[in-house]
Amino acid sequence: MTESEQQLQALALSVSQTRQAAGCAGPSLAPQLPLAEVPNLGGEARRGDCLVSMLASGSKGNAAYFQCGQTRILIDAGISCRRIEQGLKPYGCQLTDLDAVFITHEHTDHVNGLPTLLKRTHMPVYTTQETWQAVGQKIESYTDRFVRLPRMLHLKDIQVVPFAISHDAARPVGYTIYHGDCKMTLATDLGFVSQDVADAAAYADILVLEANHDEEMLKNGPYPYMLQQRILGNHGHLSNMAAAGLLADLPTKGMMRVLLAHRSEKNNTPALSLHTMRSVLSRSGKVIGQDILLRLACQHGQVRFQDGGNR
Ligand SMILES: [Zn+2]
Ligand SMILES: [Zn+2]
Repeated sequence: MTESEQQLQALALSVSQTRQAAGCAGPSLAPQLPLAEVPNLGGEARRGDCLVSMLASGSKGNAAYFQCGQTRILIDAGISCRRIEQGLKPYGCQLTDLDAVFITHEHTDHVNGLPTLLKRTHMPVYTTQETWQAVGQKIESYTDRFVRLPRMLHLKDIQVVPFAISHDAARPVGYTIYHGDCKMTLATDLGFVSQDVADAAAYADILVLEANHDEEMLKNGPYPYMLQQRILGNHGHLSNMAAAGLLADLPTKGMMRVLLAHRSEKNNTPALSLHTMRSVLSRSGKVIGQDILLRLACQHGQVRFQDGGNR
């Protein structure tokens, strides 16, 4: 276990103890964290020559960068090109180095930066026909760059396999990327864990998984009833508990690196996510830091506990 993983485990433990000491598990009592000692936990995971980095994750914009050997792709372009460029810089990657962009679905937080990205590069866009049409007018003039997703495709030294997800969009997908013996899966914006999703997540080396909301916090939060029902529904978003349930039951081939993604800024906190993960996983005998390395992606790419870990 690395130093930061040990600190993460200590953090999860302190959250649990604080809640027990408070004698109640209401979201209003989500614990204040000892912020000083906790490291920044980047939304990034590596295995061998594979890297997954969440440039941004959440309802204000999503973009994931995958670098595998000589292949560099984006999944979603929901932030500005300037932010994508900044996010790629630490990896020595420029916009024009990208081989392709894959889109999960047409919601603005996943395609906002796409028109400018297409304007500034020559790369192809892979997505479903329905998603391309649903994005509509703003990308109409780039139709020659659109590649309809097949069941499986090879792109340089990766293999990409899309899978269906349940979400209120035209035809949304998640993606599994294979490079050598490394399997990486991204599954966000999903109302529930279907068998397709469970199969895509099984035995992944790196898993980007939505942990959008704490159900109690959502139900007691500021969102209008209709929106709460949409988020909680089968075509909405995955809760901390549902994500933890998947991880608890998931077959693995050793240490799985998990990036928790698309966390709501209104209906969740890093502390609640970690607390739920820890308690559900421990029931199934999995230990954070040993069986699962957890990272939290956030709206700005990194969780900075020093900026307020209880957000
Ligand atoms: Zn989204
Ligand atoms: Zn969405």
